[in-house]
Amino acid sequence: MPETIYDIAIIGSGPAGYTAAIRAGQYGLKTALIEKDNVLGGTCLHVGCIPTKALLFNAEIWDRLKDAKEFGIDGVDSRKLNWGAVQERKSKIVAKHTKGLDFLMKKNKVEVVRGYGKLTGPAKDGVFVVDVKAGDGKATQLRVKNVILSTGSEARMIPGLEPDAQILTNIEILDIGQIPKSLVIVGAGAVGVEFASIFRSFDTKVTILEMLPRLVPVEDEDVSKELARVYRKRGIEFFTGAKVEKVEKSKAGVTVTFSVDGKPQKIEAEKILIAVGRKPRTENVGLEKTRIQPDRGFIKTDEWMQTAEPGVYAIGDVVASTPQLAHVATMEGMIAVAHMAGKPAVPINKNRIPGCTYTEPGIGSVGLTEAQARAQGYQVKIGRFPFAGNSRATILGKHEGFVKVVADEKIGEILGVHIIGPEAFELIAEAVTAMSAEATVETMMQTIHAHPTLHEAVGEAFNAVYNLSINA
Ligand SMILES: Cc1cc2nc3c(=O)[nH]c(=O)nc-3n(C[C@H](O)[C@H](O)[C@H](O)COP(=O)(O)OP(=O)(O)OC[C@H]3O[C@@H](n4cnc5c(N)ncnc54)[C@H](O)[C@@H]3O)c2cc1C
Repeated sequence: MPETIYDIAIIGSGPAGYTAAIRAGQYGLKTALIEKDNVLGGTCLHVGCIPTKALLFNAEIWDRLKDAKEFGIDGVDSRKLNWGAVQERKSKIVAKHTKGLDFLMKKNKVEVVRGYGKLTGPAKDGVFVVDVKAGDGKATQLRVKNVILSTGSEARMIPGLEPDAQILTNIEILDIGQIPKSLVIVGAGAVGVEFASIFRSFDTKVTILEMLPRLVPVEDEDVSKELARVYRKRGIEFFTGAKVEKVEKSKAGVTVTFSVDGKPQKIEAEKILIAVGRKPRTENVGLEKTRIQPDRGFIKTDEWMQTAEPGVYAIGDVVASTPQLAHVATMEGMIAVAHMAGKPAVPINKNRIPGCTYTEPGIGSVGLTEAQARAQGYQVKIGRFPFAGNSRATILGKHEGFVKVVADEKIGEILGVHIIGPEAFELIAEAVTAMSAEATVETMMQTIHAHPTLHEAVGEAFNAVYNLSINA
């Protein structure tokens, strides 16, 4: 029997890889999806987006019950948190979607190959050979016309530290047997502040240490300020401009020495979470035998996700120039496969990528921050509307935060939208659509927003660009 030659082999089954595989199947391409772990779904499904958001939802319900009396619900004072059940619900959600992925692979005729995938070098006569080593040591080789690298990323550690029962990354913290009494979190990016929000809701004493001058440093400065204000109110302690010098094991758990403005300080905690960014997984996948030269581990691609090696694409967290987000990974998967299959595709516009942080309060943003817009020479006009003026927010009892529109004064171009407050991560979709459709501030002012909804606050913020908001 002639050996199978696949149209595509995809190495890694996170959101980037599984989306590429499904799309390739939809296009009728003969597709192999190689995964080293026992389950499909990668970081996002197993130790990232999904389990964290499951826990954040439990935290939200728990917080809501703290205000039960205000909502006219008596008798919940004696409530107890069953952490085991919380964890079980999280695992069930992950399991359901893992099963869903297995189903989708079958539905789209994707062949799942279990094992560690590695490129053996450039294509010969248009065919690549990919080595696959299964967990039991059994080795196979796949012959393929195109390769997609979607091997994802892993938590960066502070040099000298190894994860264990006290020193945690996103993997260990999602599996802890009980809620820690105290937790130090190094890093105030999305991952750090989300875990801070979860554990503070469950009464952990949380301290965040961030090296940069503010929390959520990639967000608009006003968003960082508002998050800092609400976190202070929630009893979350944080130090910005803080450099971690030493982490030592102690009787209590860990002692963390850090300095702010050169002044050393110490804190004791039961556990420490290291959330200082994600390292692309590009070692030991055979790149050295190709023309791909990683840049600090990341792979450079063109707008169609092609690497320097003809026939090899890279998508997701390994890519050099796009943010490490699941929705970016999935879009990159679709673009790469469309390009390979000669189907229509549009490259990613980096200014139209939503960034969401599912904390309490939530954050959603797209486009330029005010500072970035000014630095790029725009004549900036700002429209801002507080959730305090929104009736749906009052009904929900969630008045923190605002919607901020960054616009170009001359032509009313929407340059960026930054939301902090209730359901900010859902609300931002309207701004992303508006910017993708190149709607102007005027178009959004003329758009009817249903009443009473949180979306009205978005409409009001667009009106506020011309000082015309109604309810503030
Ligand atoms: C705690 C946390 C929360 C997050 N929350 C969000 C969020 O809410 N929203 C969001 O957009 N993003 C979030 N992210 C980021 C998101 O998880 C990543 O951007 C996304 O998972 C990247 O997808 P990927 O497919 O590139 O890589 P991954 O999801 O990392 O998947 C890579 C896969 O490749 C496999 N693999 C690696 N090497 C090989 C090999 N040689 N052979 C075979 N298989 C291999 C791995 O086992 C893995 O299954 C979060 C991340 C973390 C850590």
